[in-house]
Amino acid sequence: MGLIDVKILISADMEGATGVTWPADVLPGTPQWERCRHMFTSDVNAAIAGFFDGGADEVLVNEAHWTMRNLLLEQLDERAEMLTGRHKALSMVEGVQRADVDGIAFVGYHTGAGTEGVLAHTYLANTLTGVWVNGTRASEGHLNSLVVAEYGVPVVLVTGDDRTCVDAQGYAPQAPGVAVKDYVSRYAAVCRPPARTAADIRAAACKGAALAVRHDPVRGGPFRFELEFDAEHLVGAATCVPGVERCGERRVTYTSQEMYEAIRCFKAVTTVVSSAVEEQYG
Ligand SMILES: [Zn+2]
Repeated sequence: MGLIDVKILISADMEGATGVTWPADVLPGTPQWERCRHMFTSDVNAAIAGFFDGGADEVLVNEAHWTMRNLLLEQLDERAEMLTGRHKALSMVEGVQRADVDGIAFVGYHTGAGTEGVLAHTYLANTLTGVWVNGTRASEGHLNSLVVAEYGVPVVLVTGDDRTCVDAQGYAPQAPGVAVKDYVSRYAAVCRPPARTAADIRAAACKGAALAVRHDPVRGGPFRFELEFDAEHLVGAATCVPGVERCGERRVTYTSQEMYEAIRCFKAVTTVVSSAVEEQYG
């Protein structure tokens, strides 16, 4: 251990993992998901190894996909710890508020709703067709980068498909990106085997470790969120959340001074909206 303890948080989503291209690949309980959990865990282990190669002292992995119970703890690099399960104040980037995190990695990330990318979406698989923050279309990586900036934590690694790496250039240009697959369609990609992607991720994480230096908290607000749904009635559901207003036929908006509030309001809206989607008519 060095004089200054360096701690990395890994936010681990699954759509951008090695080999994953299809909804069943990331749907808990399916045989495909059982298989893909191994490749997902391989990606995360490669990042852990790379961060330790680069001088990190501690790595905490925060599960960030669906039920947030996908990674195989029994196969996890024993130097790391894992936060598994859901209902967490900061969801995908839970742990960043503990004030001991020096850098965060977005592993297995993907592009946002309404854009090109393998399994592209923003929090909800369908239903949301676009999310904008202060007029800029935002992916989960973009949203979470704004959240972690409030805690002074830089993004030090992004992995996913090639489109995800391009997206990350917009919100974390300093972070090394690793494309584990190349986009062909929302459900198809040219994939590289886990042994190859692990080597790439490990090398990039090693470089990224050097970027893990906390900075002053960034207060970038106010944040005006605009959300577009695939059906009009969802506006009625979303506006039940205090502060959320209609701003179009299928759009709502709200404004928060801090991303902490903004992302929690986003969570409330997506939760309420999910319950308003009917099986047959959407
Ligand atoms: Zn996701």
